[in-house]
Amino acid sequence: MPTLVMKFGGTSVATLDRIKRAAKRIGVEVARGYDVIVIVSAMSGKTNELVGWVEEVSPLFDAREYDAIVSSGENVTAGLMALTLQEMGVEARSWQGWQVPLLTTSAHAAARINEIPTDNLNGKFADGMRVAVVAGFQGISPEGRITTLGRGGSDTTAVAFAAAFKAERCDIYTDVDGVYTTDPRIEDKARKLDRIAYEEMLELASLGAKVLQTRSVELAMRYRVKLRVLSSFDEQDENSGTLVCAEEEIVESNVVAGVACQRDEAKMTLVSVADRPGIAAAIFVPLSEAGVNVDMIVQNISEDGRTDMTFSCPVDQVARAEKAMDEAKQSGEINFHDLIADTDVAKVSVVGIGMRSHAGVAAKMFEVLSNEGINIKVITTSEIKISVLVDRKYMELAVQALHDAFELDKAP
Ligand code: ADP
Ligand code: ASP
Ligand code: MG
Repeated sequence: MPTLVMKFGGTSVATLDRIKRAAKRIGVEVARGYDVIVIVSAMSGKTNELVGWVEEVSPLFDAREYDAIVSSGENVTAGLMALTLQEMGVEARSWQGWQVPLLTTSAHAAARINEIPTDNLNGKFADGMRVAVVAGFQGISPEGRITTLGRGGSDTTAVAFAAAFKAERCDIYTDVDGVYTTDPRIEDKARKLDRIAYEEMLELASLGAKVLQTRSVELAMRYRVKLRVLSSFDEQDENSGTLVCAEEEIVESNVVAGVACQRDEAKMTLVSVADRPGIAAAIFVPLSEAGVNVDMIVQNISEDGRTDMTFSCPVDQVARAEKAMDEAKQSGEINFHDLIADTDVAKVSVVGIGMRSHAGVAAKMFEVLSNEGINIKVITTSEIKISVLVDRKYMELAVQALHDAFELDKAP
């Protein structure tokens, strides 16, 4: 029988009623003849509550225990979903990550999937099971400990299962009815896209559009998984939602496909570091070893052999970054006068494959921000995106102004 993967995010399983509604959707696909692998998130708010508890007990927590705790939300939903399906007369069974097993690296809190052996589940499907409900977001390390895949990781669980089981499609059910030109909570003129290219979705996701976890898009692109984002609240048919697909499958698109933003950024500046060969490594190796996800990097012009080095990272990693830099200074590996943390910044980005062949997008972006009186603190660009750091209080304004200026509310 053909296999379908259906993933339900936190808001889609937030209450027993919503689990029931999702179970009915699953029942429809079972009736159509699919073997269904359902991936569930924790009930909405649950993971945040668990993370809060971890941080309260231990601010610089041991990531192995973090994983043991925060993975538990998904276990509850998986069991409840299997029971709900059984009550509807559907042969269903729940699976935790380790039972599948979903094998990952041991990078706790940000583990990568190594392999998903299919024999276990396929054996059960052969015995008449119609739905395997798998707890998303979690796996097991080579050391036999529970791991998690990073926030939003159930999307990645879903795509990885779709690839491993050669599913006909991977449907991501969420609280919006597709991928929009920008976060519809920020810009009400945001337009739903029928299709978006893997590359564009990858950039949007990594630049803050949390509708899909970045890694899930990477996997979908690599294994050519037919990935669809759709609403778990409205009736859906074959053509609902947004299809994430290859560039060649899209007929027309705007130069800029979308605007993304990331609220909780921090800008860190190391003031007056010696400008010598190896200095970047001396700074960024310890940061990476401390688990700091450095994003943008700017090195200023040096004067008298000294320079300022600026980088951005998530605001909740500032304490880790400061500790790593202090330790590097103590040990004499680097020498700087001051470390200034600006914890009130946000990143705003425009993304589009069309930028490869159209000049002027950056100029227009800077002009729009300037007209709104928004100061740009750091700029980075790549072939298909331009990102800027701005004061956090201007994030929404910047997104709305850019959405307007690039006329993203209008179809191409
Ligand atoms: P789930 O709990 O189902 O995984 P998420 O909250 O992780 O859902 O992702 C869905 C949310 O992503 C939406 O409610 C929306 O606010 C946000 N979002 C951000 N950017 C976009 C975008 N470009 N298109 C659609 N949704 C977006
Ligand atoms: N529950 C996890 C989170 O909130 C994983 C997910 O929902 O995708 O990040
Ligand atoms: Mg999500």
